[in-house]
Amino acid sequence: MRFETLSIHAGQGPDPAYGAVMPPIYQVSTFAFQGVGTPGEFDYSRSGNPTRKSLETCLAALEGGARGFAFGTGMAAEATVLALLQAGDHLVVHNDLYGGTYRIVTEITSRQGVAVSFADLRDAAALRAVIRENTRLIWTETPTNPLMNLLDLEAIASIAREHKITTLCDNTFLTPYYQNPLALGIDIVLHSTTKYVNGHSDVVGGALVVRDEALAERVGFLQNTLGSCQAPFDCFLVLRGLKTLAVRMETHNRNALAVAAFLETHSGVKRVLHPGLESHPQHALARKQMRGYGGTFSFRVAGGAAGAARLLGKVKLFTLAESLGGVESLIEHPWSMTHASMPEEARRTAGITEDLIRISVGIEHIDDLLEDLEQALD
Ligand SMILES: *Cc1c(COP(=O)(O)O)cnc(C)c1O
Repeated sequence: MRFETLSIHAGQGPDPAYGAVMPPIYQVSTFAFQGVGTPGEFDYSRSGNPTRKSLETCLAALEGGARGFAFGTGMAAEATVLALLQAGDHLVVHNDLYGGTYRIVTEITSRQGVAVSFADLRDAAALRAVIRENTRLIWTETPTNPLMNLLDLEAIASIAREHKITTLCDNTFLTPYYQNPLALGIDIVLHSTTKYVNGHSDVVGGALVVRDEALAERVGFLQNTLGSCQAPFDCFLVLRGLKTLAVRMETHNRNALAVAAFLETHSGVKRVLHPGLESHPQHALARKQMRGYGGTFSFRVAGGAAGAARLLGKVKLFTLAESLGGVESLIEHPWSMTHASMPEEARRTAGITEDLIRISVGIEHIDDLLEDLEQALD
């Protein structure tokens, strides 16, 4: 079945108890055994819960993996997958990525005896140069947040396979609707379902989808052991969001392209970083690897820090807030907000400077969005 059908039906048959058409919220911690030594399908909600299973099955179907796992937040998914590593292992991370990922690998993973190397994974030679005998995991994110650089997932996965290294891709920005890392050879897909997958800015959540059953077994063990799973009510909300992912992503994509094209013509904007524009240096890779661009991108305003502050103070419809991927449009300043946890030097080296603005274009009417940005920039 196709994406739109799977998002509504995978893992979501009528409920066996009463035939409920939508998966009910099994708000329960424990389940009756049928007898001593004979648990039913579920025994305790940390280990498994029917509402969570519906969501996990649906996510696995959409990403094309053996199994899916739902977590309390995107960071809980990250903490769980990083627990695959042990002291003495080596982790390779792309050097331009979500601020929270930077924080967890530098403040926690590296303090647990795992060596962490940052490299520009756009460059295959840079990746080959950084791989060691003990490299266990390569962590990618594409497009990157907030700079919208792209990584060639097929190329990275093939280098990793030569060295038997597991690969992960944070697919939060594009969702399985526009990009399928597992089909390109990546082993694990990660999502902050807080963003587009849920899409309504009313829940935090995370997910992992694993390609191969043996690795999925290990991730399932970690989810149960660490207790990082998502609560039934939140799983229900994310599953409800998933049903409309296709129609939402089409609108996000269309609106964001129109906003990007408008910004490119405005004298108050120095540079638009959107992989769907011909001006993006990796536009060809975008067309090869992605089916669309989603709704989030960045741009550099004229006038540096003051120019950015002026624009952020003038917008009315775009809300000044962190996060992205909801139906409503948001705007933010990575330097002082989402990426403030990166050291100043690291931000500058990456190109996250004071003039950079990130927007998450929602699914409001495009003319209202353009009028708001126009009055703010003018
Ligand atoms: C938000 C985000 C995360 C972290 O997810 P939370 O749900 O906020 O914990 C990870 N990766 C990316 C790309 C994100 O945007």
